[in-house]
Amino acid sequence: MTVDATQDVLVSAQRVLETGEGLTEAEVLAVLQLADDQIPTLLEVAHQVRMRWCGPEVEVEGIVSVKTGGCPEDCHFCSQSGLFPSPVRAAWLDIPGLVDAAVQTAATGATEFCIVAAVRGPDAKLMAQMREAVIAIRAAVDINVAASLGILTREQVEDLKEMGIHRYNHNLETARSYFPNVVTTHTWDERWDTLEMIRDSGMEVCCGGIVGMGESVEQRAEFAAQLAALAPHEVPLNFLNPRPGTPFADLPVMESADALRTIAAFRLAMPRTILRYAGGRELTLGDPGTRDGLLGGINAVIVGNYLTTLGRTADSDLALLDELNMPIKALSDTL
Ligand code: SF4
Repeated sequence: MTVDATQDVLVSAQRVLETGEGLTEAEVLAVLQLADDQIPTLLEVAHQVRMRWCGPEVEVEGIVSVKTGGCPEDCHFCSQSGLFPSPVRAAWLDIPGLVDAAVQTAATGATEFCIVAAVRGPDAKLMAQMREAVIAIRAAVDINVAASLGILTREQVEDLKEMGIHRYNHNLETARSYFPNVVTTHTWDERWDTLEMIRDSGMEVCCGGIVGMGESVEQRAEFAAQLAALAPHEVPLNFLNPRPGTPFADLPVMESADALRTIAAFRLAMPRTILRYAGGRELTLGDPGTRDGLLGGINAVIVGNYLTTLGRTADSDLALLDELNMPIKALSDTL
């Protein structure tokens, strides 16, 4: 990239800082193409954007799997698909198990507790279990309950809203143009339709995806622009952790410089969103990179373990936030 082009990128980032309006797709692409020696400057401006438009608080969330493994879909990154020989056993968690996980999550200071199921979409049994779980969790602990149960019907959207589900997660996973390389059992548009229904219902929309799945840099920029068009409340950003037995098992781990450029680019595309570290950051970024990302646009974390892989311990994440003077967002701020 020429000196002039680099200067243009930094000028557009400065514009985001001043106006709170995100970068265009072409501008995101230019950010993703910045030279390595520009990354510290890029992260600094992305951090300023986060501080100005979101503030210093970090939103902490715990996730629990109510139904693990045996999913009929074929998302090529996912060890919970029943179509691949991944070593993940199918399992269901009962209501006391969910309540226990919610209590433990709240004890870390987290304000969000997300119940996740490895399904194409929920059936009547899962919806009934969700209803029971939300009531039991509410009785035991003060925490927002979110859900991630796949593709929904309009009736299910209304039911979840009425149960008091605060936020619904449904990831677009990748750019529309790359999606057929990642999933063949359902379409990007089916996911988009669910997201629009969630948004229309008044539940908060949580929608992100995974980078490092073999998509081009142009497709990464396309994905950022598509997410920005949806304007989700939260964007969980995963870096591919190639899981044994999945079709993506042999893909290389993303370079940490690319991961940091992506964090900053997503922040500059969506200055006001909650940008959450989700899976894969330990592998892609390690400890120093994790810190760089928190000082480069990230303002939310998942504590504890992910669905099928181990994360950093809650204590080490909370200690890092403390060291960086980033307070945990209080529950009262989110209600
Ligand atoms: S990502 Fe979700 S829908 Fe896709 S295979 Fe995994 S559990 Fe199933």
